[in-house]
Amino acid sequence: MSQQEDLEYQLDTLAIRTGHTRSFEGEHGEPIFLTSSFVYENAAEAAAKFSGAEPGNIYSRFTNPTVAMFEKRLAALEGGERAVATSSGMAAIMAVAMSYLKAGDHVICSRAVFGSTVSLFEKYVAKFNVAVDFVDLTDLDAWKNAVCPETKLLFVESPSNPLAEIADIQALADLAHANDALLAIDNSFCTPVLQQPLKFGADLVVYSATKYLDGQGRALGGAVVGNHKLLEEVFGYVRTTGPSMSPFNAWVFLKGLETLRLRMKAHSASAQKIAEWLEAHDKVEKVYYAGLKDHVGHELAAKQQLGFGGIVSFEVKGEREGAWTVIDNTQFISITGNLGDAKSTITHPATTTHGKLSPEAKAAAGIREGLIRLSVGLEDADDIIRDLSHGLDLI
Ligand SMILES: *Cc1c(COP(=O)(O)O)cnc(C)c1O
Repeated sequence: MSQQEDLEYQLDTLAIRTGHTRSFEGEHGEPIFLTSSFVYENAAEAAAKFSGAEPGNIYSRFTNPTVAMFEKRLAALEGGERAVATSSGMAAIMAVAMSYLKAGDHVICSRAVFGSTVSLFEKYVAKFNVAVDFVDLTDLDAWKNAVCPETKLLFVESPSNPLAEIADIQALADLAHANDALLAIDNSFCTPVLQQPLKFGADLVVYSATKYLDGQGRALGGAVVGNHKLLEEVFGYVRTTGPSMSPFNAWVFLKGLETLRLRMKAHSASAQKIAEWLEAHDKVEKVYYAGLKDHVGHELAAKQQLGFGGIVSFEVKGEREGAWTVIDNTQFISITGNLGDAKSTITHPATTTHGKLSPEAKAAAGIREGLIRLSVGLEDADDIIRDLSHGLDLI
């Protein structure tokens, strides 16, 4: 489908039809081009392709037809002009940092981001003399106070992990633009099905495709989405430094996108049911899910998102012992840090994903010992509830 036609189709159609131009073989399914390089009829054609005078593939670190299909499809779903795929979500975030920042620049990042994102800025990007400040996601004044003339990038994950706090994307976009800075949103938890940050003024959307875009826990990948001008920088960085997506993984994600809306709807419906059940349970102290009416971010999430997603966090009585009792007594829910899978997964943030934080940092981030994070999968919601009951009943 051409760019023009794309605009006329709804998300479900774009998710299934965008990106694939049939080859001379007439294949129905998207082909996997497992090839590192491409060949030419003659030296003149090679010269034209290499110089850029003629469009076409050269080498799969630069472009690959299967990866290009995934990029076109994701960009269409997100309402962006272009996407660049990367080898992982972290590679996508690093690509954003390396494409738009230089020595002397300043970044403001929400505090409750993926753990490796904190290290990426503090330990690696900082080596190039780029300063970073971490602020509370929901505290707009803190963002305003952190802005200085050197601020070039605001980086946000919303909803946050694991407490599902919600950032006001429009307000942060306005703040960034008033300072000639860019706003990048890590949209891995919502996907374009539940949230399209570009519509609220964000400049860049970043993905760990490893999570819901795949949806079945098979492959690592990432992507950056935005307009042509911004994405040309990311493309240049990726093709030169090499964190490109494998064509095989791109094919896995292409298939994932076809069922993304159905899956996100099912994840969200089950998560809502489970969150409501947990809220009423006498062994549960607090539930963090933006779909619950008394969640602090409920109204903002309802305005910004088309659903509340599949991640439910909750605090049980009995501190760490209580949390571990629930986790250890599940029968089928997988004990693993990954999320966004058809299989439900459960984890104890205080001793796993957030285990390296100091006690003070944990307290500031609201990561208490009784906290459990559940990624609600596509199993029957009542079965998931029963699996959580085994341990809750023992507390
Ligand atoms: C997993 C994750 C990442 C990192 O992605 P990888 O594909 O593991 O590199 C970044 N952001 C969020 C929100 C994630 O959940």
